[in-house]
Formats: sequence, structure tokens, C-alpha cells
Amino acid sequence: MNPRIAVLALQGAFREHMLVFAALGAECFEIRQRADLDRPFDALVLPGGESTVQGKLLRELGLFDPLRQRLRRGMPVLATCAGTILLAERIASDSVSHFATLPITVERNAYGRQLSSFHAESAFAGMTGVPMPFIRAPRITACAEGVEVLAEVDKFPVAVRYGRQLALTFHPEITADRRIHAYFLREVMR
Ligand code: GLN
Repeated sequence: MNPRIAVLALQGAFREHMLVFAALGAECFEIRQRADLDRPFDALVLPGGESTVQGKLLRELGLFDPLRQRLRRGMPVLATCAGTILLAERIASDSVSHFATLPITVERNAYGRQLSSFHAESAFAGMTGVPMPFIRAPRITACAEGVEVLAEVDKFPVAVRYGRQLALTFHPEITADRRIHAYFLREVMR
């Protein structure tokens, strides 16, 4: 059976993830309200956007607790950018965290206001030349033991894996390169 992927669709770049996963043969649907969680799914996508807005909406819509419970129980998740901030155990200079299931520290908007968006290419889990667009990206400043760094740019981790949680600080879904999504289906979800 095709994998069923639920994509958090409150705000931000969620459609792009759905297009990539659909092209790879997965079945995708949007999570916008609590009733959407009644449908069965095998993995979750937390898209980029604005983590403060997403965190607020998740709580207001009653999605926060049920999703956190699934993440704690090991639901595979692909998080990009704001999604990575939602997963992080600690957000530098912020007393509030969100799901906090991924033992990393992130610093929001860490690349400054002027040069906040840029493009890089780097290796990812043994694949070379993976395009990596950064958009007001957070920086991963600390990782606990057991967190595997899959990609680095300028000596900082930009892709980490912790069990079935794959978290990126860049946006592969807006490129034509589907290798990271394929890796998620093949390696993280299996
Ligand atoms: N700067 C955003 C935040 O702090 C993240 C940006 C993104 O998702 N591209 O939530």
C-alpha cells in the first residue's frame, strides 16, 4: 500500500511538500482541524513558514496535544525550517518550546535580516550536490547525543535525524530535487 502522509496545512509552504510526495507515489492529505486526525496516516510533515504563528494555531485548534502524543510515540516526521523549530527541545532566547521531541537547540532567524535568504549546495547522507535554499532559516546550535547530522553548511548542521524525526533548516520542497523526500520515504519511514 502507498504510504499515507499527513501534511500540517495551517500556514506556510505545505503544498510544495504534497506535490513532491505525490510525485513519489505517496498519498497526501492536509491537516487543518482536529477532525482531520481521524484519518489514518503513516507520517507527518511540518512545513516551513512562521513557527510562532503555527505554534499558536496548533494550540488554538486543539491539534497540539494529539500531534505531540503521536510524535512521542515515534510517528515519522519530516520537518523543514519552521517545522524544525516546532520540534526542537530548546529555542535559544525563547522560554517557550513547542513539541520539543527533538533534542537540539535552534536559534531563530540566525542568519541576520539582510542576508536572510541564500542558496547552498551540499552533501546529504552520502548524496552529493543537493540544492538547499535557506529562507530566514534557523541555525542548529547544539545537538544531543544520538542526533545524527546528515548535512552541514558552513560547519553548522542543516539536516539532522533522531530516530524517525528528520529535521531540515532549508527547503528542499521548492527545488526540483526529490532525493531528500525519497530518502524520508525509503529510510526514515521503513
Ligand atoms: N523564520 C521562521 C520562523 O522563525 C522560519 C522560516 C521558514 O520556515 N522558512 O519560524
